[in-house]
Amino acid sequence: MNVAFLAVEAEPFIKVGGLGDVAGSLPPALRNFSDDVRLILPLHGAIREQGLLLNDAGSFPLVHKGISENVRIFSYNHRGAMVYFIDSPFIRADLPVYSRDDVEDGWRYGLFSLAALTFLQKLDWHVDILHANDWHTSLAVYALAKTRHAIPVFSQTKSVLSVHNLPYSGSDASYILEEFDLPKSDQLLIPEWSRNAHLPLGLAAADQIVAVSPTYAREILTSEFGSGYERFLRSRGSSVSGILNGINYESWDPSNDPYILNRYDLHTLDIRKQNRDALQRSLGLAVDPDAMLIGLISRMDYQKGIDLLPEALYQMLMIPDQPAFHWQLVVLGTGDQKIEREISQLEQDFPSKVRVSLRFDQRLSHQIYASADLLLIPSRYEPCGLTQMIGMRYGCVPLARATGGLLDTICDDDAGDQRNGFLFREATSEALLETIIRVSKYFGRKKIWKNIQHNGMQANFSWDVSAGQYHQLFMELIERKVGN
Ligand code: ADP
Repeated sequence: MNVAFLAVEAEPFIKVGGLGDVAGSLPPALRNFSDDVRLILPLHGAIREQGLLLNDAGSFPLVHKGISENVRIFSYNHRGAMVYFIDSPFIRADLPVYSRDDVEDGWRYGLFSLAALTFLQKLDWHVDILHANDWHTSLAVYALAKTRHAIPVFSQTKSVLSVHNLPYSGSDASYILEEFDLPKSDQLLIPEWSRNAHLPLGLAAADQIVAVSPTYAREILTSEFGSGYERFLRSRGSSVSGILNGINYESWDPSNDPYILNRYDLHTLDIRKQNRDALQRSLGLAVDPDAMLIGLISRMDYQKGIDLLPEALYQMLMIPDQPAFHWQLVVLGTGDQKIEREISQLEQDFPSKVRVSLRFDQRLSHQIYASADLLLIPSRYEPCGLTQMIGMRYGCVPLARATGGLLDTICDDDAGDQRNGFLFREATSEALLETIIRVSKYFGRKKIWKNIQHNGMQANFSWDVSAGQYHQLFMELIERKVGN
């Protein structure tokens, strides 16, 4: 089966967030099911600078309203798999993957999507499945649906749109539709204010919509999580489903991680302490074996619920410092400046307990996963979430809000000794604090704590499981007639 996989970031070429992890890992995992998956990415400036040996795979004009954009295609063989990079002035190689200008990003990725579809039409390779991801590549799905009746090579092509984050719908794309003589959306169940934004166009046109966890697939049918699209999504019935993301077991492997000092696995978990000591030392924190080292690795965004933390920590000060309840906090993240300021304030207020690094730092992230006792993920909503799965693989126990993929992966239940983490329900500082206190009771009991770590480390979050489900879905879609 031939799958064209469209995304705007993918490891190892470029990664800004979770989408980069997914787009880097799912295509190779699908290849294990003998799918020929070809990844199509914009040729970002940061990729150009890597000096990859790219092959010139031709060029063509992308014409709109008399303007001709020159599109160049470069191919690259990545571990035996084909990757295509699309280059054109509209990609704006001078900008980061996500600039602060929504309209500019809407234009560059709208045109990237249409250029990718045009390229696939010209390629001597039949596309069975067009797999788009998030708003950035949604226009390819929409344009496919609107034009496939007239393009014989696409007459049997089915589309899948994976939704990694529903509220990020992209800017209004009406002017792009006009430029390319595409009709506007006639999907009346999608609110008018966003009917012609990128993501809703893709939602309206995709043969299958895949949310990145089963719980998120159910949540987006409700007004709380549906971003206004819930009525439409409910109308799609079984064409909306959920498949949990996995994590890349090669890049996230504590027994073979180049970024950490002391490698370990399930059987040598005690070695992990040495990483903890080293991290505490390098950050200037007391090397205290009794302190619960709490880690937080996250985009600084309202979604992530990080603003619940300061209040919880200030209240924690009121609690007498029992032996099992010394704590230290290490934060790594960038994003919203207000949240960054609030979190930095914690370091000022608790200089002996808190360290905050406001940057993107792959190495430090690995070191925190391999050292911290607890990983905080207080998200207000979380389509899938990768950090809890990475944490568990590294023996770093997650404490998370019970939502989306966090609920699908974390078991906060003593029954049968299955607990691999801790969950709280209300998105409040009080609920977070209560749970931290609950965790501290377990942390003090070393054998039980180790068992919780073991449960997480033994779970299978590899891509094989998810890729099998995507493959199955692709097979079913291919059987389905276009339009059904
Ligand atoms: P999202 O995609 O919503 O940001 P996910 O949990 O799905 O959240 O994925 C986040 C990914 O980005 C994880 O691999 C995490 O380790 C990584 N990450 C987040 N912030 C940073 C940072 N500041 N430095 C390094 N890695 C980070």
